[in-house]
Amino acid sequence: MLVSTPIGNLADISPRARAALAGADLVLAEDTAHSGRLLSALGVRARCLSLHEHNENARIPAVLERLRDGQRVALISDAGTPLVSDPGFRLVRAAIAAGLPVGAVPGPNAAVTALVLSGLPPLPFLVLGFPPPKPAARISAFAALRAAEAAGLAATLIWYEAPHRLAAMLADLASVFGDRPAAVARELTKRFEEIRRARLPALAAHYAAEAPRGEITVLLGPPEAPPTAAEDLEPALRAALREHSLRDAAALVAAATGRPRREVYARALALTNDPPAAIPRASMTESDPRRRRLLYRATHRGTQETDLLVGGFVARHLSGFTPDQLDELETILELPDTDLADWLTGRRPIPRDLASELLRRMRAEAG
Ligand code: SAM
Repeated sequence: MLVSTPIGNLADISPRARAALAGADLVLAEDTAHSGRLLSALGVRARCLSLHEHNENARIPAVLERLRDGQRVALISDAGTPLVSDPGFRLVRAAIAAGLPVGAVPGPNAAVTALVLSGLPPLPFLVLGFPPPKPAARISAFAALRAAEAAGLAATLIWYEAPHRLAAMLADLASVFGDRPAAVARELTKRFEEIRRARLPALAAHYAAEAPRGEITVLLGPPEAPPTAAEDLEPALRAALREHSLRDAAALVAAATGRPRREVYARALALTNDPPAAIPRASMTESDPRRRRLLYRATHRGTQETDLLVGGFVARHLSGFTPDQLDELETILELPDTDLADWLTGRRPIPRDLASELLRRMRAEAG
């Protein structure tokens, strides 16, 4: 029996959950010390055994044996609904494959609670668990979602995140997804529950200035529908140009607005020939024209993961390159995505000293 437990407020335990735990021959818990406290607070005495990420496979045969013997086994996690970003899936899959009965006592879940409180569109939603902790992998995971959006995904996205990584995560979200509605839900169901609903850049700025505490769920609204009237092409194009190459931005906006591609391309070209307006915010503050051009190039490479990885890295660390390296850096930024991808994955030797240096620095940053 998969038993959901509270996400911070003991009063959220359901009578059915309490009964399932009290009647279990064995309670499988992610952390037996943590769950022991819950069970004793509920007045339940039960035999408890650990089942976590590292021992789940090893535990499966013995648990299936108990189920075959007719024993009642309850599975709980540290909080909320087991299996959702918590262990248990492999056990459930094995029990189903063995033809053994599996039941669930539904209950609290941080993602769904945050979703219904966020004011963001509730359907469809996509729960993604924790984002990768390392910056390069995180940006690449966000870039893959952004690419899925470009292909038509329009869902509210939900992540769990640790408080000490929230500011970096929100900054990366803002750099990949741009300006759109989002929310941060903190300490749900607890005394200091807080939901901050704002546009992504404002949320990123808030948590960059104020380190949060407690348990956190992050939500990002779906892409906002671009305007379709001809005179409204410009804001949509400016937004698309912040994240896409000229060609991709024109294609995206043409598809989204139904305007003729040639017309949209011409408008996009006119905008990029007007650098102060088209350059993303980061590069507006760069006074050196050469570095400003490089920043523009870095942030307009394209939408492939490699483009975002290399472009994002260069944009973040441009000041760390010497003036002598800038010309070569510019040449590297002109290279097609496939060349860069081949270097990054080691499929092709790196022909340039600076490119090796770039790769070394990126790997060091990624840890
Ligand atoms: N299975 C759980 C569920 O159903 O919600 C989620 C497990 S996941 C390992 C734990 C993460 O969920 C926390 O690190 C935090 O990001 C989020 N979380 C859990 N409780 C929360 C709460 N009360 N408020 C906000 N987020 C919460």
